[in-house]
Amino acid sequence: MATFTCTRCGKCCISLGRHIRIERSLSSVQHYVRNAISGEVMIVTIHPDSRDLFSEEPEEGWCPFLRREQDGRFTCTIYENRPAVCRNFRCLTMVISGPDGTEVGQIVGKATITTRDAALKELWNNLKKQFLFGEPGWFEHMQKGLVAHGYTLEAVT
Ligand code: SF4
Repeated sequence: MATFTCTRCGKCCISLGRHIRIERSLSSVQHYVRNAISGEVMIVTIHPDSRDLFSEEPEEGWCPFLRREQDGRFTCTIYENRPAVCRNFRCLTMVISGPDGTEVGQIVGKATITTRDAALKELWNNLKKQFLFGEPGWFEHMQKGLVAHGYTLEAVT
């Protein structure tokens, strides 16, 4: 698998990262990592494609394995062997409400919908096919399509 580059805000890694610590380094590419929440300690290896990036200093307060690409995107330099807390983290980016304001859907990851409303799921997936995820105007396109059917879409900040 290639390295992972987040196309969104990187906020999850920035906040999770407060709990990820390098306990001890065996070399420039192998490190013992502690998850300060669970106490889990594991050994991780920096992905070969990310070694140059990892050699740059991380931002203050970030996860020690999180780096920013030149184009502004975020990269986890140990994505393949990242700790369980990171694997289990669900990045909730948007919520959808029905006409009465009740939350009826959640959007995670690369615009994947979780909902019990089959019609909403179909609508969402059809709208997604019409516009490339992450392109400028994508959110407005999805919002407009949902509003036309009585739903509202809000970004989680
Ligand atoms: S180890 Fe990777 S996935 Fe986990 S917080 Fe750090 S950068 Fe994010």
